[in-house]
Amino acid sequence: MNGSRHLMPARDPAERIKNFEEVALGYTRDIAREEAARCLNCKNAPCMKGCPVGVRIPEFIAKVKADDLDAAAEILHADNNLPAICGRVCPQEKQCEGLCVRAKAGGAIAIGALERFVADFALSKKADASGAAQNSYKIKNDAQNDANVDFSGKKIKVAAIGSGPASLSCAADLARRGVQVTVYEALHKAGGVLVYGIPEFRLPKDIVFKEIEGLKALGVNMVTNVVVGKTLFIDELLEEYDAVFIGSGAGLPMFLGVEGENLCGVYSANEYLTRVNLMGAYKEGAVTPVLRGGKVVVVGAGNVAMDSARTARRLGAEVRLVYRRSRAEMPAREEEILHAEEEGVIFDLLVNPVKILGDENGFVRGLKLIKMRLGEPDASGRRSPVPIEDSEYDIEADEVIVALGTTPNPLIKNSMPSLEVGRKGVISVDGEGRTSIPRLYAGGDAATGAATVILAMGAGKRAAKAILEDLKVR
Ligand SMILES: Cc1cc2nc3c(=O)[nH]c(=O)nc-3n(C[C@H](O)[C@H](O)[C@H](O)COP(=O)(O)OP(=O)(O)OC[C@H]3O[C@@H](n4cnc5c(N)ncnc54)[C@H](O)[C@@H]3O)c2cc1C
Repeated sequence: MNGSRHLMPARDPAERIKNFEEVALGYTRDIAREEAARCLNCKNAPCMKGCPVGVRIPEFIAKVKADDLDAAAEILHADNNLPAICGRVCPQEKQCEGLCVRAKAGGAIAIGALERFVADFALSKKADASGAAQNSYKIKNDAQNDANVDFSGKKIKVAAIGSGPASLSCAADLARRGVQVTVYEALHKAGGVLVYGIPEFRLPKDIVFKEIEGLKALGVNMVTNVVVGKTLFIDELLEEYDAVFIGSGAGLPMFLGVEGENLCGVYSANEYLTRVNLMGAYKEGAVTPVLRGGKVVVVGAGNVAMDSARTARRLGAEVRLVYRRSRAEMPAREEEILHAEEEGVIFDLLVNPVKILGDENGFVRGLKLIKMRLGEPDASGRRSPVPIEDSEYDIEADEVIVALGTTPNPLIKNSMPSLEVGRKGVISVDGEGRTSIPRLYAGGDAATGAATVILAMGAGKRAAKAILEDLKVR
């Protein structure tokens, strides 16, 4: 029955750890057609139920099979504002591909790889650097809808805080309806984690910037270097705009809480990756450098830990990843774990740091680890790690990167005390992104805690819909 799933071609590990070039190379047109031909075009489309933004997956794949890539791109862009990004970083195996009926017959259809292929085709078609590719693939339902006024005929203006996928999706859907959107971003470049967190070798920044250019071409105004809650306040935004969307993410890192965490050379993964991705620490003379070479220890085993470990490898380090559970419980995507292993990252499993060791100058020199065993399942359903008595030992480290997850930054809440938040400062919203304050909406990591790009996008889209409904946009 139409053979097995086509593997994603990738760069050779020995070569790729010498640079930051994209690891996954993408399908050729022939491979894409062959992979698309494996799709059974199921009537009930189970794959679509796994897509938080509702991409019409069998339809776009049928067009790839028919080699009608323009039509495939049209269908894809109708529901997904950032398909070239999602095709690269979505955890498809847990979403659309996880529900594919071909999983047991040669492997699930490579929906993510096909999405990437079609989205890259669309981007490359627009030779001009303005990257207005998306503009030519309008949302079908809205194509004739240029509404930009409410029932009173007033021009609608919406502000979005943060420029990650949640705000970008919200902004795109509003702009397509003619709403005037201004995005306020704290950093000097727009894109959120897509730009400062996910490394170039997984998601080339060119692609993110092209997608953002596409949004600008829709009329979205991007204002960078504005920290809402410090340089501009939500109250002020609510005065000037008809509605405000908070898409400020979850950028506050969690730490181990052990002695030695303040030593020089201990970073949160966010800081480490921002230094490298956004501030170019891999270049000579960077103003925010990181260590090159040496011994780097990464604590954690999620995608962020894998990104940190693989980044450190590319900067010439010997990298150990320490994790308190076993391989089976690692939260990172299987592909990321395999890529890290191929690139020579050493996994020290069932161990946990109890102390970070320093030298007389206050620089990190190692870690004290304790061995762990797996006990009964905890609330997360995973077997919980239990320390083994008297099993401590030391390892050397010149740099330690802590990748234990993040929570929303309290700045927004602190500047708006009446805003209701839940556990760990996550902004409370209803199913459509409405907060406790009228005309104030939120979505993405700010309202869920650290999650995924596609969930943030879905939340941005739902909030855009609610804003349009609440403001009675015609
Ligand atoms: C290293 C790393 C790797 C990841 N890999 C994947 C992956 O492979 N696949 C996947 O699906 N997900 C991945 N994720 C998670 C994913 O990136 C996030 O879930 C997603 O980006 C959340 O989108 P968002 O729009 O809610 O927030 P963000 O992308 O975090 O964007 C929020 C933006 O708001 C800005 N901001 C914050 N506070 C303010 C303020 N007060 N004023 C103005 N601006 C503000 C921030 O600077 C930031 O640019 C990864 C995350 C990290 C950190």
